[in-house]
Formats: sequence, structure tokens, C-alpha cells
Amino acid sequence: MEKTPARKKAHVKGIKVRTVNFIMIFLSCLLYTMLLAVTYRASQNYQAMVTATNLYIQCQENASMLSEASDYLTDQARMFAVTMDPAHMENYFEEVHVTRRRKRALISLTDQASSEALEYMEKALENSNRLMEQEIYSMRLVAEAQSMDPASLPQEVADTQIFPGHQRLSPEEQLEAAREKVFGSEYQAKKQLITSNISYFLSDVMASTQQGQQSSMDDLARSMAMERILFSILFLMNISIFLMIILLIVKPLQIYVNCIKKEKRMEITGAYEFKYLALTYNDIYEINAANEILLRHQAEHDSLTGLINRGAFEHVRQVLKVKSQALALLIIDVDKFKLINDGYGHETGDLVLKKVARLLEESFRSTDYPARIGGDEFAVILPDIDCKHQPMVEAKIRSINDTLLAPTDGAPPVSLSVGGAFSSCGFSDSLYAQADAALYAAKENGRCGCRFYEEGIPTPAEKASKE
Ligand code: GH3
Ligand code: MG
Repeated sequence: MEKTPARKKAHVKGIKVRTVNFIMIFLSCLLYTMLLAVTYRASQNYQAMVTATNLYIQCQENASMLSEASDYLTDQARMFAVTMDPAHMENYFEEVHVTRRRKRALISLTDQASSEALEYMEKALENSNRLMEQEIYSMRLVAEAQSMDPASLPQEVADTQIFPGHQRLSPEEQLEAAREKVFGSEYQAKKQLITSNISYFLSDVMASTQQGQQSSMDDLARSMAMERILFSILFLMNISIFLMIILLIVKPLQIYVNCIKKEKRMEITGAYEFKYLALTYNDIYEINAANEILLRHQAEHDSLTGLINRGAFEHVRQVLKVKSQALALLIIDVDKFKLINDGYGHETGDLVLKKVARLLEESFRSTDYPARIGGDEFAVILPDIDCKHQPMVEAKIRSINDTLLAPTDGAPPVSLSVGGAFSSCGFSDSLYAQADAALYAAKENGRCGCRFYEEGIPTPAEKASKE
């Protein structure tokens, strides 16, 4: 069963542009958000690497500061033991109490290094403090050898007790002992301990820095790989968007424009929306085509009888004028039709006219042209007919009149008067006048019959010229 247009459209299948659009927007948002997140993560990984490097540099600087401060104390203690210049002792205690580089370095490292690494620096400070006891004792010995006023000495030096063994020594020997304290192998060994503590600390920091950097680098590599994947997906998505636009929109539009240009039905192709449009267009196209056929039919046919009308008859006449074929023309008039109208009513008159039309159609060939050319006046053009066929035509008219005069449908009896004329070379200009003259002669001859034009029957023009 043929589907109605509405049902056809309800069953349209296809990808909806709207749906594709929504999916693409959603995917694009998702992918771009992921790309942003991955890029942000990559920059964070890079920042972490930089931070780890900076932290290592700061640890190194602080470790150097502690080492330099310790060396400075050693230098000042040694210089005092050699030159006995109190300025070195002052410098020493300024470093201990005011500059305090070792303490400051340790405080800074608390925020920068791990607690395990920090232990090495605490040990370094501890060892440095132990060395300080030795250095201060050396200073005390120098001050004793130089018989310096204890009140002029720094508190730590003044408070230091000289071992009894050293008290008994001469000033030169005391100086010698003081120098031994800060230059001797025991001192050097302890000094070496500090250096080792610092280098352990740096190794530890270096290891943890490298570990941190490695994990940041791994993360960075993963982020970059993810970025590449997302870029590839976005690229493929863009390509598929272009392809879909071409397949779902551009191509169907081209096809539709061509169909419209060629005034033909549209191909059902492309996205759902285009298919729906094409079906709608095709429905309108079909309605228009049907309307056109109807209008053409109405323009060419008589609405009462369905035969071709006077205009179409004239058109056929013009066409047959240029064709040099034999043909016959019959002009038919209902006899005393006014009486039918007057006696039975106009509607019965209409039924009689329809009956005449039907009988004409049935009696002649499908290649003939029966037409209603006036109120109760008909015409039939019979192509490829010559005077040899006259008896056959007359027999048909007789048969029609027999049928009309003995109605079985309750209609009033009527008869036809028919005038005919033959032409051997198309619809000549005089043919109509000859058939009309023959009709007139038939009417004159008592109606209900057929008369063909022959010499002697005056045409309307001949009659007019005689008058
Ligand atoms: P005649 O034998 O000389 O032809 O006499 P007649 O009465 O038939 O005269 P005529 O052919 O001149 O009359 C035609 C009548 O047909 C006049 C008009 O009222 C009637 N008529 C014209 N068109 C129609 C129509 O469509 N329906 C009906 N019922 N009558 C029509
Ligand atoms: Mg008549």
C-alpha cells in the first residue's frame, strides 16, 4: 500500500545534523578541557623541576655558608694564635654572636632539606661547636701567654679554665700549645669531620633532587604524550567534521539545487533534515504536477460533457491544417433542443447533452476528436477518413439517432442533425463552412439525419453573396 506523505516523513531515517552538531560541540569541549588540563599539568611538572633545581642550589649555598663560617672561625683562631692580634679574636666572636652564618644556614635549611639530610648539617654544626671549644681554649692559652687583662677578654675566653699542666708551662710553651690546639692533627681530624658531614648532606640533597627531577620529568613526558594524543584526536575530529559537512550538507545541497534546476523530483539523500525537506519538496512537486494536469484538462475540456471544448477543437484544427492527410469533419446539432429545455427543464437538457457526448465518444474511434463547440452543437474530426467511408459514418449517425429516439433511461427522445465534409489534404479553410452548409441542408431536409457536402449546397458565404 502506498504510504501517505505524512507517514512517509514520519519514517524518515538518517543522521540528524542537530545531533551531530551537539555531539561535536560536546566532544570538542571535552577534548579542549582535557588539553588545557594536560598543558597545565605539563607546566606544573616543568615548574617542579625548576623548583627542585633551585632548592638544590639554595641547599648548596647554605651548606657553603656553614662551611665558610666554620673555616672563617678556624682562620681567625689560627691568626690569633700566630699574630696574637686581639682583632682576630674580636672577628671570631663577631661571627659567633653577630653574623651567625652557621646558625642562619641551618635555620634556612630546615625549610629546604629533608629531615634525614638535615641531620648531617646538625652534626656538622655540632662538630663545629666542638672545634670552637678547642679554638677558645687556644685563645685562652694565647691570652695567658701574653698576660692579657682578663677583663678585656670575651666572656667565653675569660671563663675558660687552663688545665694545670698548661699553667706550669712558660709563655713560649703556652703559645706552642695554643698553636698545636688549632693546627694539630686532632684539630684537622675534627675539621675533616665537618667537611664530611657537609658532603654527606650535599650527596643526600643531590640524590633527593635527582629523584624529584626524575619523577617530574616522567610526569612531563606523560603529559606531553597525552598532549600529542589529544592533538591527534582533535585533528581527526576536525577532518571528520569536514567530511560530515560535505556528505551530510554540501553534497545533498548540490544534488537538490540540480534537481530544482532540472525541475525534477528530489533524491532522498543526506542528513535527516535534508531527507525531510526533500520529501516535503517532492510532496509539493507532486501536488503541483497534479494541479497542472487538472488545470490543463479544465482549460481544454468542457465541464459538462467531458469532451474537448471549442478552444481545444480550434487547436486541433490548426494542427491538422499543416498535415496533408485525408480527414472528415462532422458538425452535429441537437434537433429542437430548446423544446427539451422548455418541456423537461434545463437539468434534463444537460443530461441529454451528456448522453449525446457519450454516444459520440463510444461510436467513433479513439483517434477521432469529438468536441462540444457550442450550446447543443458538437463536432467530430475524423483523421484518415475519405469519401469512401461516408456510408460507414452515416451508419454510425443513424445508430446514434436510433438510440436517442428510443431512450431506455427515461430521458426524452431527441435526434441529431449532422453535416459532414471531406478533405484530402488536412483541415482546409473551407472545410468547416462546407460541413456547416451540409448541416443546414440536413436541418432543411427535415432534421434527424446526416448530409455530406456536395456541389450545389451553398456555403454560408455563398448564401450571403447571393442575398
Ligand atoms: P434546431 O433544431 O434548429 O437546432 O432548434 P433548437 O431548438 O435546437 O435551436 P438551437 O440549436 O438554436 O437551440 C440551442 C439551445 O440550447 C439554446 C439554449 O438555451 C440551449 N442550451 C445552450 N447551452 C445549453 C446547456 O449547456 N444546457 C442546456 N440545458 N441547454 C443549453
Ligand atoms: Mg439545436
